[in-house]
Amino acid sequence: MSKQSKNPETIALHGGDYRSDPATTAVAVPIYRTTSYQFNNTGHAANLFALKEFGNIYTRIMNPTNDVLEKRVAALENGLACVTVGSGQAASTFAIVNVCQAGDNFVSSTDLYGGTVNLFTHTLKKLGIEVRYADPSDPKNFEKAIDEKTRCFYAETLPNPALRVFPIKEVSDIGRKHNIPLIMDNTAAPIICKPLDHGAAVVVHSLTKFIGGHGTVIGGCLVDGGNFDWTADPKRQPLFNEPDMSYGGAKWGEVVPQLTGANVSFAVRARVCLLRDLGAPLSPDNAWGIIQGLETAPLRMQQHCSNATKVVDFLQKHKNVERVIYPTLHKGAIGDRTKKYFSGGNGALVGIEVKGGVEAGKKFIEALKMFYHVANIGDARSLAIHPATTTHSQLTQEELLAAGVTPGYVRLSIGIEHPDDIIADLKQALDASGKPSLKAVS
Ligand code: PLP
Repeated sequence: MSKQSKNPETIALHGGDYRSDPATTAVAVPIYRTTSYQFNNTGHAANLFALKEFGNIYTRIMNPTNDVLEKRVAALENGLACVTVGSGQAASTFAIVNVCQAGDNFVSSTDLYGGTVNLFTHTLKKLGIEVRYADPSDPKNFEKAIDEKTRCFYAETLPNPALRVFPIKEVSDIGRKHNIPLIMDNTAAPIICKPLDHGAAVVVHSLTKFIGGHGTVIGGCLVDGGNFDWTADPKRQPLFNEPDMSYGGAKWGEVVPQLTGANVSFAVRARVCLLRDLGAPLSPDNAWGIIQGLETAPLRMQQHCSNATKVVDFLQKHKNVERVIYPTLHKGAIGDRTKKYFSGGNGALVGIEVKGGVEAGKKFIEALKMFYHVANIGDARSLAIHPATTTHSQLTQEELLAAGVTPGYVRLSIGIEHPDDIIADLKQALDASGKPSLKAVS
């Protein structure tokens, strides 16, 4: 019964087909620290390599510990299949490289994590893949950027620092008209937003953040929604329709549904071609660490979100705060998207513009006592950072402004501590940010 549950609290513990370890009946998921798997006989080995039978071959491509995590995350996202990789960055890279080759392009939202901007603007360019940026405040900008070489759209559900919820259905509808899949990075909004339900074809996560949840493990994944027809327009999706000479001439869009009975060509190609060739698997030890976090992620998300709501109320009333940035505070169509796409909370990320610009922002961060000053989000602990001088420091002034990073902006990732303690720490730091520094007094 638990397997059919649609409730994230149950899926996080029972999703997928793991009940207990088949070898020992252990209830907790074991860490399978093995590189390889004994084949039953030569026919079995040949069938596995030819994808005539599915099973374990080598841990760079699959592992039973990772498999439990993959099935649970796929179920949480209402997807059909999931592939774990060594980091969120690897997940974004795989997502693009799974559909684009040299000479192709893709259209990405301008509202992105700084590391993703670097990957798209510089590293993928060196590989011959062109990114075209589109401002998501008008979904039509995505359509304007398409040409015959456009292979996918890419965006984040809840991009910081602007915290404007992405128009998922609006852009995925445009994409589907042209047989272009929408790939959504849902790192900042697991459980509270399900992009696949709104038309996205693929979801990627940095599992490092809210799903792992404890700031202990780096990991990433790609979830195949099973809701996109990769064969509908062969010219649009050549990597799924032309013979792959690295795999006996397989046409992935055709062969995977035939072999598996499921529309999971994206996930299978990412696993058997990209993990095989590029490497970057998630280690089973790290998969285990993320499973521990995942089991309580739905409960933590509730606490993250309810704490963030209280923090926003407090910050709006503090005299040293110039502006508070939170998804529900945006007006008009952008604010409406929060109601349309989120349920059960509006996220843990809160932005503030401290009165007094860069200096006051720095003073505020230095005065925090309980918050950690780190380049991370989604930890159980409360975190703070000044993006202009850290996470986004490699961007040009133009890119900074396009991403919504102003000089005094401070990003908060609200943890699951007691809300009174979170607010008390913010209050004393904000009070300190408005006081003249000792240097100025002397
Ligand atoms: N996507 C988003 C939205 C992120 O915030 C991050 C990291 O901060 C990443 C992807 C990259 O994830 P990782 O650090 O696991 O490589």
